Amino acid sequence: MSGEPQDDCLFCKIVAGHVPATIVRETDTTVAFRDINPQAPTHVLVIPKTHYKDAATLATAEPALAADVLREAKAVADEDKLESYRIVFNTGAGAGQTVFHAHAHVLGGRGMQWPPG
Ligand code: 5GP
Repeated sequence: MSGEPQDDCLFCKIVAGHVPATIVRETDTTVAFRDINPQAPTHVLVIPKTHYKDAATLATAEPALAADVLREAKAVADEDKLESYRIVFNTGAGAGQTVFHAHAHVLGGRGMQWPPG
């Protein structure tokens, strides 16, 4: 599980201000910043400030914090005036997860396909 900052975690470093990011929102418990390799006109990552390896682990350990992440995802969408948007939690390398600190992708501003690739 965790909850403790990890020295080797990129997103813990962004939370600590040791790696720069374009931060669009911050609360006591979460940070939202633009993805460095955007896949849509809006592509923002919302993360808990505390470290959990993925969204399911976060939701099991701290459900209120998982709810904070979802609430902030909506706030990002509202700020960018998105009528529809996609929230993605890649979970595990096989699903495309590359950073093992829980994060929601908030994607919008273009048409989307289903099923996703
Ligand atoms: P995942 O593949 O784990 O679901 O998502 C990780 C995301 O983090 C990717 O979309 C990737 O582009 C983004 N990312 C990786 N390194 C950085 C970085 O240094 N800064 C920012 N802002 N995003 C990053």
